[in-house]
Amino acid sequence: MDWKTLSDRVLNDGAITKTEALAILESSDDELLDVLQNAYRIRKKYFGNKVSLHLLRNVKSGKCPEDCAFCSQSTSAINEVERYDFQTVESIVKGAQAAVDRQAKRYCVVSSTRAPSPNELETICEAAVQIKQKHPSLEICSSLGLLTEEKAIRLKISGVDRFNHNLETSENYFPEVVTTHDFEDRVNTAKIIKKVGLDLCSGGLFGMGESLQDRVDLIFALADLDVDSVPINFLDPRPGTEFEGQANPLSPNDCLRGLAMARFSMPATEVRIAGGRETTLRGLQPLALYPANSMFTAGYLTTGGQDYETDKRMIEDAGFVIQKA
Ligand code: SF4
Repeated sequence: MDWKTLSDRVLNDGAITKTEALAILESSDDELLDVLQNAYRIRKKYFGNKVSLHLLRNVKSGKCPEDCAFCSQSTSAINEVERYDFQTVESIVKGAQAAVDRQAKRYCVVSSTRAPSPNELETICEAAVQIKQKHPSLEICSSLGLLTEEKAIRLKISGVDRFNHNLETSENYFPEVVTTHDFEDRVNTAKIIKKVGLDLCSGGLFGMGESLQDRVDLIFALADLDVDSVPINFLDPRPGTEFEGQANPLSPNDCLRGLAMARFSMPATEVRIAGGRETTLRGLQPLALYPANSMFTAGYLTTGGQDYETDKRMIEDAGFVIQKA
């Protein structure tokens, strides 16, 4: 494959096919720098050398009735993950300061749940109003499970900018990962988010045993939904989950090819390096900034991660610039 010709086509508003996306995932290690260089040409057109940082806050941990096989917050997982009920408005608002202090563009408020209860929804809405008063330029993303249109509208009018709802994997592989809800449920919530005018953040997880074709199908399903932001996680098998002990099939180069495939497929969409970055990319983390323009900093929902100062230095050393809120 001539990667420059492919990136030229994308830069001229053309699209790549599923066959070409698969070819990116199947490309050899020898071709990787060429693939990344051409992914970077596309990234540069839409995002320059900016990196947007996102800070996560887990506002309710554990006790989730869903059975996502990768997730340590599911009641199906047997582990020592901290479990607590929905946090208060005051505490969620206070957490926004940590995002501001770390130059984060977006504060991501996440709850372990199938769907938000009326009280949980009202807590997030009140917190959003207060955060916007204190930090008007800080964007707010919430991730609260399945949504009805009524609940989505309530979030929108309270000042929430974006809603995260990952598809996780392809429709074909989804039943191997989750059985308590189906792929269509997730697509329906994603469509509601777009319909009410919230930004849609939706991505998935690579390395759960899915095929390369499943990875392509996931990214094309996300493109069909016209997502605004795509977080790509890499499986870091957690203790007590169904996927514990699963040999991690992802090499750092596989992760880079996955991010490059997302960039070629969705040139103008925010592509975020998400959970598992540190353990799967290891020393190649800075290279991931060539296809991706965004990352979480200072850890994840139930696992720690690289601290903000180290992330900042990594971004600057690689010649990128943190995008200010
Ligand atoms: S991924 Fe979300 S819905 Fe699935 S078990 Fe974890 S918290 Fe629940």
